[in-house]
Amino acid sequence: MQVPGSFEYERATGVEDAIALLDRLGDEARLVAGGHSLLPMMKLRLANPEYLIDINDLEGELGYITTERSRLRIGAMTRHRRLLESDELAAAFPLFRDAEKVIADPVVRNRGTIGGSLCQADPAEDLTTVCSVLDATCVVRGPGGRREIQMSEFLVGPYETALAHNEMLIEIVIPVHGHSSSAYAKVERRTGDWAVTAAGAAVTVEGGEIARAAVGLTAVHPDPSGLSDVADYLTGRPPSEEAFAQAGRMAAQACEPVADARGTVDYKRHLASELTIRTLRTAVDRVLRSDVEHEPTGEEA
Ligand SMILES: Cc1cc2nc3c(=O)[nH]c(=O)nc-3n(C[C@H](O)[C@H](O)[C@H](O)COP(=O)(O)OP(=O)(O)OC[C@H]3O[C@@H](n4cnc5c(N)ncnc54)[C@H](O)[C@@H]3O)c2cc1C
Repeated sequence: MQVPGSFEYERATGVEDAIALLDRLGDEARLVAGGHSLLPMMKLRLANPEYLIDINDLEGELGYITTERSRLRIGAMTRHRRLLESDELAAAFPLFRDAEKVIADPVVRNRGTIGGSLCQADPAEDLTTVCSVLDATCVVRGPGGRREIQMSEFLVGPYETALAHNEMLIEIVIPVHGHSSSAYAKVERRTGDWAVTAAGAAVTVEGGEIARAAVGLTAVHPDPSGLSDVADYLTGRPPSEEAFAQAGRMAAQACEPVADARGTVDYKRHLASELTIRTLRTAVDRVLRSDVEHEPTGEEA
């Protein structure tokens, strides 16, 4: 079935208007941002909203990347293309560019948004892992006002978030730490495809030790407590190939992949381990390189 069911169409003029429409039209109404997840689901009749509330006119209000002293804020309507091209974002969190390079194709990246990616809550969505690894906070607004939800609580399950039907995601806030970096790596069957498996890592290295670490996995249903065990294992250790290999083994154990056309359970577990090792290695290399680049010269010291 490639034709959606019938629906009424509304075009929101601003955030307040979008929330008022969601509230008035009830739980049969859905926001549409880039439409690259919702419209295919409607065509397959996996989603049958009675009302579509188009929020594309909110790009001026919600399409931004803003760096502040200790955090970076991304508006929910920021499109993949802007996330890919932003040097400021790549400098603070290189895993965004790593991930965006391998998300779909230019047609999808021109329209798809970070807000839509997180609200879709598809276990194969790359930006969900990126934002989880960076310990992002989701800023949400509804008729009752604004609230903040940690990524770990925003995702309730596959295709399910903590948003009420009359709330919308406004922005994503990411804490900035010194001596830190990150990386993302994905295996896909062909360019632009969804992940067979992908991994993201963020690390802080201080005094020759890993002071903070986070590892995330895409498309393999990771157990959050298993991934926090990986982080706990790494914290306080000097970065080494041995430590990365153990983290890889633990990450592979923490996931519950499903066999499908993309690969077997064993293959996906193997990828979870290997990609965890690679992203940890790259993230640590990036911290060490950037610390060398920012070392004061003799004249500055
Ligand atoms: C061919 C193809 C390949 C793709 N490959 C990949 C890939 O490799 N990796 C990947 O990560 N993604 C991939 N995607 C998905 C793509 O990244 C989408 O852009 C993204 O999943 C959803 O963003 P969107 O803006 O299009 O959301 P929409 O489809 O507009 O919305 C998705 C859901 O989020 C809700 N929503 C949207 N914005 C908000 C908001 N601000 N507040 C509350 N709810 C909101 C909608 O109501 C809907 O339920 C692919 C898509 C296609 C079509």
